[in-house]
Amino acid sequence: MSGGSATPLMQQYREIKARHQDAILFFRMGDFYEMFYEDAEVASRAIGLTLTSRNNGGAAEVPLAGIPVKAAAEYLRRLVGQGYRVAICEQVEDPKLAKGIVKREVIETITPGAVFADDLLDGARANYVCAIAMGRDTVGKQSARDAEKVREQIGVAAADLSTGELRMFVVTAADAPAVLARLAPRELLRVRKPAGESPHADIEAALRVVDNVLVTEREGWEFDAQLAADELTRQFAISSLEGFGLGTDDAAAVGAAGALLRYLRELQPGGLPHLARPMVERPGGVMPLDEMTRRNLELVESLRGGELAGTLLSVLDRTTTPMGQRLLRQWLLAPLLDRDVIERRLDAVTVLVREAVGRTALREALDGVRDVERLASKAAAGRATPRELRALGDSLARLPQVAKAVRDVLSHASQGGAQGGELAAMLHDWDDGADCAAKLTHMLVTRPPLMIGDEDTIAPGVDADLDELRALRDGGKDAIATIQQQERARTGISSLKVGYNKVFGYFLEISNANRHLVPDDYQRRQTLTGAERYVTPALKEYEEKVLSAAERIETRERELFEALRREAGAAIARWQQVARRVATIDVLASFADTAEREQYVRPELHDGFDMEIVAGRHPVVERMMAREKFIPNDLVLTDDAQLIVLTGPNMAGKSTILRQVGLIQLLAQVGAYVPARKARLPIVDRLFTRVGASDNLVRGQSTFMVEMSETSAILHTATRRSLVLLDEIGRGTSTYDGVSIAWSVSEHLHDGIGCKTVFATHYHELTQLASELTGVRNFTVAVREVGDQVLFLHRLIPGGADRSYGIEVGRLAGLPAPVIARAKEVLALLEGEGEQMAARLTADGMQAPVSTRRRGPRLKHQLDTDQLGFFGEPAAPVDEAATRLKAVVSALDTDSMTPLEALTTLAALKKGAAAT
Ligand code: ATP
Repeated sequence: MSGGSATPLMQQYREIKARHQDAILFFRMGDFYEMFYEDAEVASRAIGLTLTSRNNGGAAEVPLAGIPVKAAAEYLRRLVGQGYRVAICEQVEDPKLAKGIVKREVIETITPGAVFADDLLDGARANYVCAIAMGRDTVGKQSARDAEKVREQIGVAAADLSTGELRMFVVTAADAPAVLARLAPRELLRVRKPAGESPHADIEAALRVVDNVLVTEREGWEFDAQLAADELTRQFAISSLEGFGLGTDDAAAVGAAGALLRYLRELQPGGLPHLARPMVERPGGVMPLDEMTRRNLELVESLRGGELAGTLLSVLDRTTTPMGQRLLRQWLLAPLLDRDVIERRLDAVTVLVREAVGRTALREALDGVRDVERLASKAAAGRATPRELRALGDSLARLPQVAKAVRDVLSHASQGGAQGGELAAMLHDWDDGADCAAKLTHMLVTRPPLMIGDEDTIAPGVDADLDELRALRDGGKDAIATIQQQERARTGISSLKVGYNKVFGYFLEISNANRHLVPDDYQRRQTLTGAERYVTPALKEYEEKVLSAAERIETRERELFEALRREAGAAIARWQQVARRVATIDVLASFADTAEREQYVRPELHDGFDMEIVAGRHPVVERMMAREKFIPNDLVLTDDAQLIVLTGPNMAGKSTILRQVGLIQLLAQVGAYVPARKARLPIVDRLFTRVGASDNLVRGQSTFMVEMSETSAILHTATRRSLVLLDEIGRGTSTYDGVSIAWSVSEHLHDGIGCKTVFATHYHELTQLASELTGVRNFTVAVREVGDQVLFLHRLIPGGADRSYGIEVGRLAGLPAPVIARAKEVLALLEGEGEQMAARLTADGMQAPVSTRRRGPRLKHQLDTDQLGFFGEPAAPVDEAATRLKAVVSALDTDSMTPLEALTTLAALKKGAAAT
């Protein structure tokens, strides 16, 4: 921005802009928000506004872009949607009364993570802004001396401005990414590091898992735990943080929360009256789900495109309220670890499954409940419109019915001896604010306008003054209607009519054809094409009465409405609590409903190791086909059969089985029923699901690198109590490298970690693990060959597969017939080769391979005899150099080579050939 002479207006602009450097400033001027300079340029590029310029009194032209205040919501939505911050600067005094320049102030800053407006929010998910900090950043050097543990901890704080939810997490560095991934924040605050100091690796790693997030760096001191504690105690008017269960060991989370509060207060200078007391989460309560598992199990987003369709959430969601919808999503991403807590949820679901009639009544009662959480937040923040406040009242008014329905379900169930678990807990000290609801519905008309003044907001009979003013207004209107009758009689013009507009007020309209009949005492006010408009002294007199009454009505209505809104807003903590309970009830009822419709069963949880699933199904895949088409499968993992190697043809259903095991375990720990006939399950501490090849080019990692990092993460974190589901490992590299890695990973999982594992693979060599390791079992998915076609049976049976039927699948996928035919020839050749080689190895005194139809020699030996070729003749030492070359060439994996690798390999071969 250039300096120099400027008009007072531009000076005011610059002063305000200087305080909001990192936001686009919407500068209110009359009916427009104007943007200047760079803001105008950025906005015009981002949302296609026309850029103009204005002369600023000085020499320079000022780039300018404006939007009508009335249309601002849409522009805001687009800018914030693209990750911009927008500061809204309003005129804070009446321009008519202003001396000199109208006073202006930024009343709020809207960012992706800090929004109230419905059109910027998704009803089905929370909208978090998070702050993250290492303990070392939040504690002073002194206190840190004896608190190394604290220094290494990571603290995360998350707030949803639209609901007032505040959460704090104390986590280890290893689990921080899982927490962030679960919250999926739109915006994130972190400590700004002094120049030259590199950001902490653990924080970097955590940040890597969140996509589309606006990252803001804040000054280090803002994360100071002591300052933060002050900030928090002030916000919640408490004397110490102990009441929240927070101690000195939680400095990281406290520091993060402090920085977050400070930031939010900056964005909302009006304050944060609706922020709820923080919920604190510690390690051990919730199972950390890493990004790959969350993605691969398609819990809330599909692998392709990240949509809702095809996800676990989409098939489970039978909630009826937005709060329930949001909570269900949260629960699916946060399976529990404490068996008692899980059983309490399951008890509730059991009761609701049994009481089908009561459940229907409950769901009907829930049906009309709107987003109490967000409506109440708007009321507390002074933003609720008359219509929204009424919606809050109507929703609250339904809650006694919800409570009654729950009570009915429970009392019915208790006759059969069932306890309601979590459902019963919801009724404890139930407070639905019936008093406030009654007041809201009593005071507001049934369908209030969006804005005060458009139509009546306050119901008749509520306020004597208001009623009197309305009588005046309505009397005036009646009198004016009478004038119409009188004037028609007097002039004989039957088409004469009284009208009203904002500029001229009330008038008498007479068509041109009757103009000659207009009496002398009419005063002309306006000429239209076919008519003239007049006023009379009598008309003006009543107009005065009507209009002044209308003005006073509006003022009075506003007073009453704002007081009502303040009163409702002051009870925010009550609404937040009841909203959370309603959400819980909704989710539990939704679990029960799904359980009944889809024939799920209650999982039997135990503290042991074994896992037994009878007739398990994949909850999503089964929904995509007619129910009887899906083939259920059993799966057992025990102490002495803890690792299953799952081989089988392409398309047989390996991935489906693998994922269904994961989903069943996850659902059980969420406290839901599971798609199976019976499920006896342990509580697992972690669930890992890594699937196939996926690359992450955006983050600069190749397919194979991603695969290896994910595998590495599993091997480092899994414990004996974990469930590890691997769908292909080592596919992204050459066959030998791949098999070797897959083999040693399996060994490590079996011998080193001892966890339950299912490993689906096309490396048939791995079936040999079963004969070497005691806890390994082979399973395959059955197919039947009919002529030269393959019938997929989708049935899990013991044993290993020795074929993949990949060519068959290629045919199904429409590969050209000649390609299929040729592939079969090559396959026959390769299989012959494998057999020859096996025979040779056996003749050499080596152990016979288990599987010999494809290059099937026992893996160990294959690895030892470094120079095996697929096309090689028996190793007659005719020309050693030629044999070696042949071996090298045939071992090349041309499928996975890049052109560059191919070229360098060729050059090396040429060099090698020249040397012999
Ligand atoms: P690939 O090795 O090629 O990845 P896969 O063995 O992992 O294949 P899946 O992807 O699990 O095979 O399954 C392929 C398709 O088979 C599924 O999309 C589904 O339509 C069907 N399918 C899988 N399991 C079953 C089942 N139990 N009952 C019925 N259909 C099934």
